[in-house]
Amino acid sequence: MAIYTCGHTTPDSDSICSAISLSYLLNKIGQEAIPARQGPVSPETQFILDKFGFEAPLLKTEFAGCELFITDYSDRGQAPKDLDEATVVGIVDHHKLGDITTSAPLECWIRPVGCTNTIVKEMYDYHGVEIPANIAGVMLCAILSDTVIFKSPTCTDIDIKIVRELAEIAGVEDFAALGMEMFTVKSAVAGVPVRELILRDYKPFDMHGNDVGIGQLEVIDLSLFDNIKAELQADLDALREENNLHTACLILTDIIKEGSEVLVSSKDTSIFEKAFDIKLEDGKVWLDGCLSRKKQIIPFLQPAFA
Ligand code: MG
Ligand code: MG
Ligand code: MG
Repeated sequence: MAIYTCGHTTPDSDSICSAISLSYLLNKIGQEAIPARQGPVSPETQFILDKFGFEAPLLKTEFAGCELFITDYSDRGQAPKDLDEATVVGIVDHHKLGDITTSAPLECWIRPVGCTNTIVKEMYDYHGVEIPANIAGVMLCAILSDTVIFKSPTCTDIDIKIVRELAEIAGVEDFAALGMEMFTVKSAVAGVPVRELILRDYKPFDMHGNDVGIGQLEVIDLSLFDNIKAELQADLDALREENNLHTACLILTDIIKEGSEVLVSSKDTSIFEKAFDIKLEDGKVWLDGCLSRKKQIIPFLQPAFA
């Protein structure tokens, strides 16, 4: 039986590129594997796939009876709905440990680095498998995306070393320029429906029994949102009510100024204010130096619900 390699719901570039890079590796070591994705391909990811000549992985949301190698998450909230009827054979991830459990032994590669593809590169090295240039290219882009071209506090020396190695293999001379090209594609928000923007890089969380949804948009200039910010805030309220969330946030990250404006819709905004020791103004706040949802938002917001 083939193993499906697949990342989280609302897939980002790391989820899709790690499904591709991991499935190639598994096939090389004698385990038949097929890359899959749980949702649409973002413009940034499409840019990466086009650049290195890949088709989007198979769109698949039901895994009952299948073998699944999870990439880029370990939270049930980001898993397929029928996860309990699938067999999880492995997890490769770089987030906080989530709540997925298994009934059989599995292979786990979970490390505190900036990107799942950094760990997949270590898996290639462990197995002594050579990385083809086009696979190295998508892995490289995923790491540049997740680490915000090394600016994110989640970025480690290991990520930087591995980016250099992958750039060499992929024949990419100026990886910083490639990274900026990618973030410029990601910054094209004009004319996109606001709901699509909120959900583009959105993750649901269970914070001490409260449903919380957090989206993030990373752009090269926050003024791109000037004309649509009010509309984004109104739709964040609508999203929260439709899904009966306690809190819905949208993190608008300026990767050049290196900080984020967070739009907050909540049944009780004092929880967010307590978490970050700030006062919201018109339902939003600028957090200087904040680039990472994983490292600079969740570890503060989650305990505030306790
Ligand atoms: Mg991800
Ligand atoms: Mg990732
Ligand atoms: Mg990200």
